[in-house]
Amino acid sequence: MIVLRWKRIVALIAAALALVSLSVGVYCIAAAVTYPKPYATVVLDAGHGGWDGGVVSSGGHKEADINLSIVFAIKSELESRGIEAVLTRDSDRALGDDKRSDMKARSEIIKQANPSAVISVHVNKYSQSSRRGIQVFYDDTGYGKGFALTMQSVLNTYINDKYCKRQFSALAGDYYITKCAPKVPSIIVECGFISNAEDLSLLMSEGYRRELAVHIADAVQSCVSDEVSVVAE
Ligand SMILES: [Zn+2]
Repeated sequence: MIVLRWKRIVALIAAALALVSLSVGVYCIAAAVTYPKPYATVVLDAGHGGWDGGVVSSGGHKEADINLSIVFAIKSELESRGIEAVLTRDSDRALGDDKRSDMKARSEIIKQANPSAVISVHVNKYSQSSRRGIQVFYDDTGYGKGFALTMQSVLNTYINDKYCKRQFSALAGDYYITKCAPKVPSIIVECGFISNAEDLSLLMSEGYRRELAVHIADAVQSCVSDEVSVVAE
């Protein structure tokens, strides 16, 4: 009977449409899970703080304060790109009464954040005041090497070449902060020399810190987007 046949066809079409809309719904849910916002978390560790000022310039500028200002600039740049930034400290304070407890507290924050990458921000000091530029460090037993090489390459191209006409190589070593999350790319960025007048002047400039943050965020983004594309497959 033709009427019955039509009913069956309509039922089949309805069933097919239901299936399509269900699969579209499932796809949307899957897509939302694959690309959550923020799509990555990065821990930014401003080295030192409070009783531990880090290195100090001849004019009394403290490394701890400069580190924090740089971290704020990187945080703002990352957040503008949809990447969450978790800070180990957001004011001039230590995280413990001694170096050991301070570092342990930083380690706990890193573990809790379950991040895609860790960047510990520092500023260097050297006996020869002519020494300047940015250098990246990583733990040779960890996962930080690729991230460190990318970061160093970006900073050589856009900062070191521009401001001090010199290139650095990322250096491997044995650093507590880069071991806190063993499978997470973790690096230390020594953002310049407090003992060099030109570097110090740049580090004290908000415009320069923003410029630095843009390039650090570029390297972060290339590191974490590799991870996102793996998740998406
Ligand atoms: Zn330091």
